[in-house]
Amino acid sequence: MKLPRPDIRSAGRGLLDLILPPRAFDDGAPAQSPGLSAEAWSRIVFIDGPVCDGCGAPFPHDLGAGVCCAACTARPRLFSRARAACLYDEASRDLVLQLKHADRTELSGLLAAWIGRAAADLIAEADAIAPVPMHRWRLFRRRYNQAAELARPLARRFGRPYLPDALRRLKAGGQAGKSAVGRRRAVAGAFEVPKMLRKHVEGRRILLVDDVMTTGATADACARALLRAGARAVDLAVVARVRELHASET
Ligand SMILES: [Zn+2]
Repeated sequence: MKLPRPDIRSAGRGLLDLILPPRAFDDGAPAQSPGLSAEAWSRIVFIDGPVCDGCGAPFPHDLGAGVCCAACTARPRLFSRARAACLYDEASRDLVLQLKHADRTELSGLLAAWIGRAAADLIAEADAIAPVPMHRWRLFRRRYNQAAELARPLARRFGRPYLPDALRRLKAGGQAGKSAVGRRRAVAGAFEVPKMLRKHVEGRRILLVDDVMTTGATADACARALLRAGARAVDLAVVARVRELHASET
């Protein structure tokens, strides 16, 4: 899918420059505005204010550092903390789909920069960065894992060890359209840390990277595998998250 490039002199370009300095990319090159119209860019809802420390949900008021929402307090997850750069809605969905279905390396650089901004505190404390993996059959079809396309420039930009193969996905199968319970079942036991890589995980705080968080089930299953392999803690950073992470789980 190739969409026309927006006019870089447009109002949206200016807005984006406010959101991110033009040289905020991992390669140091001036920013591009990949693939979306200026209007679409301006509709992206960034999560800039205070958030739940556990799931990254935006809070209406600043409740202080390290405070979790009621849902996270009631049912803590296996990952300790999560941050998302923007809300997952119609505007950001287009962006994420482009990352999934096309070779958009300039887009992955931009989105990694967004994650870098939203998850700065998590990255600062991370001993290593790892992507949520794709099953090898799917990887074969798609040619690349979008989570890895985000995690790699993020690790490079922040000088953190990058562990592309820290997790292996044992079960194939998509999650689209599944209920929260269905998603949880689909990913239960779906991940493992290969024996060879345990030494890179043991005792470390791992930052997991993915494109979207909808129920958190995938990240939870990944965190379980990493913790079993001896990770000290697991955090999560994504481009976009649904507004109500827990609403679909009740
Ligand atoms: Zn929460």
